[in-house]
Amino acid sequence: MIIELKDVTKRYGTGTVSVAALHEVELFVAPGEFVVVLGPSGSGKTTLLNVVGALDTATEGTVRVNGIDISDASRKELFDFRRSSVSFIFQAFNLFPGLTAEENVQFGVDAAGSDRDPGEVLESVGLGDKLDRFPHELSGGEQQRVAIARALATGNPVMLADEPTGELDFQTGVQILELLQQQAGDGRAVLVVTHNREISRIADRVVELSSGRIVGDGPPQGGKADVADLHW
Ligand code: ADP
Repeated sequence: MIIELKDVTKRYGTGTVSVAALHEVELFVAPGEFVVVLGPSGSGKTTLLNVVGALDTATEGTVRVNGIDISDASRKELFDFRRSSVSFIFQAFNLFPGLTAEENVQFGVDAAGSDRDPGEVLESVGLGDKLDRFPHELSGGEQQRVAIARALATGNPVMLADEPTGELDFQTGVQILELLQQQAGDGRAVLVVTHNREISRIADRVVELSSGRIVGDGPPQGGKADVADLHW
C-alpha cells in the first residue's frame, strides 16, 4: 500500500473547544488506484489530504505514505518526503501568474529534482502548443491542465487533488477528471476530494467521510460509470 492511515485522529484546538476534524480514520490505498473521497463541507476532506501530504500532522495514529512513516518523521525527513513523494492540485489552480505554462511546470521539475521535460509533460496533457502562455492567457480548464502537468512533472507517486473541478464548467470538469483518472497507474495513486457525488461515480473506489469519520469505502453505488455518463 502506498498510503496507510491507521487509527488517525486530527484535533484542532484544545479542551472543550477541541474539534475532531478526523476521527479514527483507517485508509489504505494501493499504487495505481483512483480514489474519490466524498463528503459535505466540513467533513474533514481537506484535513485528510493535508495529513496524507504532510502539510498537517495527525494528533493520534500512524500515517505511512510511500514507505515513510510521516507521523514520526523529523522536519528534514518531512521536507524530503514532500519533495519526493506527493504532488498537489488545488481548486484554484495555484499557478505562478508571472511564469509561463512551461516555467510553471519547470518549477515542479526543479522542486522535486526530477528529470522530466516540461514541454513533453505539457504535450501529454494536450497543451503542447501553449508552452509560452501565461496563466491569464489560458482558460480555467487549461490552467488546471498546467497544474496537473506540474504535478506529473515531479514524478512523485502520490497525487492529491482538492476539488479540482470546483471552478470549472461541467464539460471542462469532466475532461479534467478523465485526465486525473488516466494518471492513476504506473505506480501512481490519485486521491481526489470533492463534495460532488456525481464525480465519485467514475472512481475505482469511493471513500465517504461524514463528520471526520469514514462511513463508506467501496466501489461507487450502481457501479463505476463512464465519464460520458456524468451530469452535474
Ligand atoms: P472539508 O474539506 O470537508 O470542508 P475540513 O477538513 O476543511 O473539511 O474541516 C473539517 C473540520 O475541521 C471542520 O469542522 C473545520 O471547521 C475544522 N477545521 C479545519 N481546519 C481547522 C483549523 N485550522 N482550526 C480549527 N478547526 C479547523
